[in-house]
Amino acid sequence: MFVCPNCGGNLKFDIPSQQLSCEYCQTQADPYAFDDKAEGSFEKLDYEVTVFSCPQCGGEIVSTDTSAAEFCTFCGASTILHSRLRNEKRPKYIIPFKQTKEDCKKAYSAMMKKAIFAPDVLKNPKYIDSFRGIYMPYWAFHVTQQSPFSLNATRSKRRGDYIITDHFDLKGNIDAYYKGLSYDASSSFDDSISQKIAPYDVKGMKAFTPAFLSGFYADTADVPAEEYQNQAENTAAENSIQKIYGTPAFSGMEISGSLGPDALNTQTKEVDSTMFPVWFMSYRNGGRVAYATVNGQTGKVVTDLPVDVRKYVTGSLLLAVPVFILLNLLFTLMPSTLLIITTILAAISMIIYFCELGTVKKKEKLENKKTDLGLITAITALVLGIGITILQPVSDVFYYGGAIISLCAVFCTIRDIIHYYNILSTRRLPQFDRTGGDDNA
Ligand SMILES: [Zn+2]
Ligand SMILES: [Zn+2]
Repeated sequence: MFVCPNCGGNLKFDIPSQQLSCEYCQTQADPYAFDDKAEGSFEKLDYEVTVFSCPQCGGEIVSTDTSAAEFCTFCGASTILHSRLRNEKRPKYIIPFKQTKEDCKKAYSAMMKKAIFAPDVLKNPKYIDSFRGIYMPYWAFHVTQQSPFSLNATRSKRRGDYIITDHFDLKGNIDAYYKGLSYDASSSFDDSISQKIAPYDVKGMKAFTPAFLSGFYADTADVPAEEYQNQAENTAAENSIQKIYGTPAFSGMEISGSLGPDALNTQTKEVDSTMFPVWFMSYRNGGRVAYATVNGQTGKVVTDLPVDVRKYVTGSLLLAVPVFILLNLLFTLMPSTLLIITTILAAISMIIYFCELGTVKKKEKLENKKTDLGLITAITALVLGIGITILQPVSDVFYYGGAIISLCAVFCTIRDIIHYYNILSTRRLPQFDRTGGDDNA
């Protein structure tokens, strides 16, 4: 806790002013003024935090505040988190929050307005208020390239009946510096989210001091930097190679020979631990959880979007009825044509169903426990539709009956498709098996 010099209240980091501000008397203070790093002649490597851990999933977040945390961000459980003190390694840099909670709620709500089939709870203001500011640990790689390079190239032009080809020996020197190629250093923060929520502008990085965390939480770094070194160097190399090939003087040339990270003398000069700001919210439904995140620097929204089956079916029916009536007014559909159309629709929905089931199985390693209702009706509809079309019974009743069954099949299959879509757009409840003990014990 950071104590107000004026009234003794709690100072929290205030986003608009980028200063510490007192909750009671609005006194402002410089975050760096509270750093005891300057005292003592040696560099302080640790700082004290309260560790909050979830009794349900084992997820951990830390804070410089001691007030109780009442829900878990990772699994969405509402439960008082266990707390204890621990010393954490200081990151070197931090990008302080630029987007306030109000900005974040506005950006999220604007996005959800377009998500008409999302469950209502995701748009409920009370729920949206549960956005929590969390600093996520990242590794920032500083990569250099200093090396001569050479490539072969040709350029051809046509003159009359001749094609004239010039050969070139392209030589150059590369001197590149990549500052702050960043990679998510926390195993509890899904890499798929951290990639989508990027980029962060590393020009906003400031020297870390614990006071920036006041009023916020932080996740801890538990993935070693080495894990990302190759990736960072390859990214730098790819980018430079593209730049070299795209040089205006080389335009129209057919360049042969290739450059790799080694040819450019790509080297990681330094890796810094940093913290980047994320507004984070979780929605728990049964055994699944969905995350909504907002980049705390740029305001970019990345969210899992489950679909409410009831809303979707109502919406599609409301749309299908007028379309159907319109079709009937424009073209007089023969009962046999109608049956063919609906049978084709049933077949299409079945194909989509199987494609999606395949993706879900790949992602979740699901076993096929039961056959879905949609699938049974779809197969029945297909057999009936084809059978009736081949047999060509005299009475129209058969065609209409077949068409109705096919449409039912389409709806049942769509319901199952949404069910699987929701599995894809949400996550399993996390289970962190951190063994508890202090890292530096
Ligand atoms: Zn005060
Ligand atoms: Zn939890």
